[in-house]
Amino acid sequence: MAKCSAHTKINAVTKCLDCGYYLCMDCHNDNNPGFCYTCSKKPATMKRIKESDPHTANERNIMWGFILFFIAVVGFIVYQIVKVLVASTQYLIY
Ligand SMILES: [Zn+2]
Ligand SMILES: [Zn+2]
Repeated sequence: MAKCSAHTKINAVTKCLDCGYYLCMDCHNDNNPGFCYTCSKKPATMKRIKESDPHTANERNIMWGFILFFIAVVGFIVYQIVKVLVASTQYLIY
């Protein structure tokens, strides 16, 4: 088992995804899993965490699914109305 880069006597629980430092429970940043405190403070790393956040991506997919469903429903209703209107105008002509 690898030791923490800062505390050489403590077993590391993870490795920083950015700098590759081994991190123990104390060094591991709970708010940004997989990153050390130093890397968590870097704006570039924070941006990457946000972009790769599966929770955010999932919420975005659900939102898009809902929008597509809404468009499909509205499209179907408009199609039905147009169909009725076309049918009624044809009825008037003949
Ligand atoms: Zn780091
Ligand atoms: Zn440590």
